[in-house]
Amino acid sequence: MRVPLLDLKLQYASIRDEVRPVVDEVMENQYFILGPNVTGLEEEVARYSQSKYGIGVTSGTDALLIALMALDIGPDDAVITTPYTFFATGGVVHRLGALPLFLDIDEASYNIDPAQVEQYISCHCVTRDGALFDPRLGRKVRVLMPVHLYGQCADMDALSAIAEKYGLAIIEDAAQAIGSEWKGRRAGSMGTIGCFSFFPSKNLGGFGDGGMVTVSDDALAEKLRILRVHGSKPKYYHKMVGGNFRLDELQAAVLRVKLRHLDAWTEGRQKNAALYRSLFKGAGLDGKIGLPKELSNVRHIYNQFVIRAPRRDELMAHLKAQGIGTEIYYPLPLHLQECFSDLGYKTGDLPISEKAAAETVAVPIFPELTEEQIRYVVESIAAFYS
Ligand SMILES: *Cc1c(COP(=O)(O)O)cnc(C)c1O
Repeated sequence: MRVPLLDLKLQYASIRDEVRPVVDEVMENQYFILGPNVTGLEEEVARYSQSKYGIGVTSGTDALLIALMALDIGPDDAVITTPYTFFATGGVVHRLGALPLFLDIDEASYNIDPAQVEQYISCHCVTRDGALFDPRLGRKVRVLMPVHLYGQCADMDALSAIAEKYGLAIIEDAAQAIGSEWKGRRAGSMGTIGCFSFFPSKNLGGFGDGGMVTVSDDALAEKLRILRVHGSKPKYYHKMVGGNFRLDELQAAVLRVKLRHLDAWTEGRQKNAALYRSLFKGAGLDGKIGLPKELSNVRHIYNQFVIRAPRRDELMAHLKAQGIGTEIYYPLPLHLQECFSDLGYKTGDLPISEKAAAETVAVPIFPELTEEQIRYVVESIAAFYS
């Protein structure tokens, strides 16, 4: 049996008859940039994500970048975020000349630990000119950028309370978390700006790159729309410098079809997660491997199902030989990446992230998996440890 980590061909087979006509329509219309499908998708994703506005952009990375630009983040600033994430989260901060300030994660959820944020601020920051300032770094701290990793929201009660207390904006990196909820509130609606990715492997994935920002503040929405087109308004007149951050019609047309199926796909992922849990337990493995903790009050959308596994690398090799795809998200936390060596972090600085990077592995969770395939994955893992 073969069990790939993700098989998008199965998904496409199930929606081919819906997708082909909308793609055809775009080709017939020859209207490719910021047309009716982008506007439609923006409204639909905003509604889906409990936000007032959606602004379609080129990718999840550009969603994060334009969000920081809209908040005027630059060389005077540091941005608090997690090191246990995809590179883009830290990369965009650096690209604007700002300093990524990595704080450790919560061991159970893999998301940034609010206690670390509070401790960092109270130990290292002062208030200067009405803004939080870190005298060691010589930078203002104006933005908190949590990531809702693997499809489960970070602790937004605690993070929002900290943000309010210290006057920080929150940019939610919801690239893996469309439809995910914290106490009934959707990812992307709880911070100042929400950022989504439509990279093909995300739960709502296009036929190429794409992304979206969500926002409820009118003025910020307007600024984001202007930044998306090189800062131009009216056309060819620039009060600010933006970029080409436009989502294209072909992607939007495909994504609108897929959005209609997203809840059913999410249910499929949740069902698979529940089956894994019961099978791992049944095989007596729940004490051996660490299963993902689903917090109470969340809607976990399982972009990934990540386990902690003793002898992780050996297990991966064993599963590969059994025809089972796995992946490490992520093998090296951002604070230890070579490109950030100037920041001065060293091994041991953020131990919970480093431990997660060394111990975790994602197993297949995509909605079209069969029960037989999931049983095979669990049996293969059980065989490895027996
Ligand atoms: C995928 C991802 C991004 C980047 O999205 P792209 O669309 O690939 O640019 C950013 N942050 C996280 C957490 C992601 O998983």
